[in-house]
Amino acid sequence: MEYVLVTGGAGYIGSHTVRRLVGAGYSVLVVDDLSSGRGEAVRNASFEKGYIGDAARLEEVFGRYKVSAVMHFAGNIVVSESSTDPLKYYGNNVSGTITLLSAMQKFGVDKMIFSSSAAVYGSPDKTPIEESTAVKPVNPYGRTKAMIETILADCDSAHGLKYVSLRYFNAAGADPSGELGEHHNPETHLIPLILKAVFENRPVSVFGNDYPTPDGTCVRDYVHVNDIADAHILALKYLADGGESNVFNLGGGTGYSVKEVIKAAEKVVGKKIEVKFEDWRPGDPPVLVASYAKAKRMLGWEPKYRNIEEIIQTAYRSKLI
Ligand code: UDP
Repeated sequence: MEYVLVTGGAGYIGSHTVRRLVGAGYSVLVVDDLSSGRGEAVRNASFEKGYIGDAARLEEVFGRYKVSAVMHFAGNIVVSESSTDPLKYYGNNVSGTITLLSAMQKFGVDKMIFSSSAAVYGSPDKTPIEESTAVKPVNPYGRTKAMIETILADCDSAHGLKYVSLRYFNAAGADPSGELGEHHNPETHLIPLILKAVFENRPVSVFGNDYPTPDGTCVRDYVHVNDIADAHILALKYLADGGESNVFNLGGGTGYSVKEVIKAAEKVVGKKIEVKFEDWRPGDPPVLVASYAKAKRMLGWEPKYRNIEEIIQTAYRSKLI
């Protein structure tokens, strides 16, 4: 039996992808250290608890399972923490990935789908952002993603690793079954924080209302987590069919301001949501909106969830905020 190895498969995007992979008939092996993921989120897949930076553990796992490709989600994701504790980020994200890639090379596994981020672009002037936009990250988190992309390209040149790097914009929502959800500790993402505030009957903090945007709040591109999961499966097929290494944006192509997201959430929850304006969060660019034309053209991917209300609805329905 050949497995797709999913690192970070107990996390938010990883667990949704495992569910879609299993649904599509793949045999899945999750490797996760459960430092932030939830073991209960892994169902119908093999599970090996382990840290991607633990070479001996990885080699033992690769020795026992025949792995055809790796989907690599494991990593630290809190942008603010990456500025205060950069060594954690360079250690877990960059060094951890090098250890994983070394194990893959040793066991002849030559395909990787990598969780990258719009953070590699930093704060570009042009919108929508295309993959040809300069890579200029503005925080250590974004730099770890950019460095890993460089390492992947070098591994392709040196020993033929084939990879697809998927640059996510704002992943959001949850599987409509309600069985999986977005669950971070600490939570920093807008939609779960709005819903948390609703459940706890308190105002939502909005970071900045004097940005150079139509309503003064930041504009982001929210893309449903199952659409992101499906892009991974298409990327896997693309590599299996002999596709060259590549990078793709994953976004919905539509920008919503923080105020617009809160308005949409009010419709979903059926009540007014109080807002508390606070200072800008350091490093938040005013506008980040993707062009996903390349993923459409080369992977045949398009987001199925087009509407922010629908995305929030799936998050609201999941009990796992
Ligand atoms: N945001 C906010 N209040 C919050 C959390 C986030 O106003 O409690 C804003 C944040 O400044 C950004 C947008 O919501 O403009 C999306 O933030 P998130 O952390 O969800 O994703 P990011 O775009 O930073 O990856």
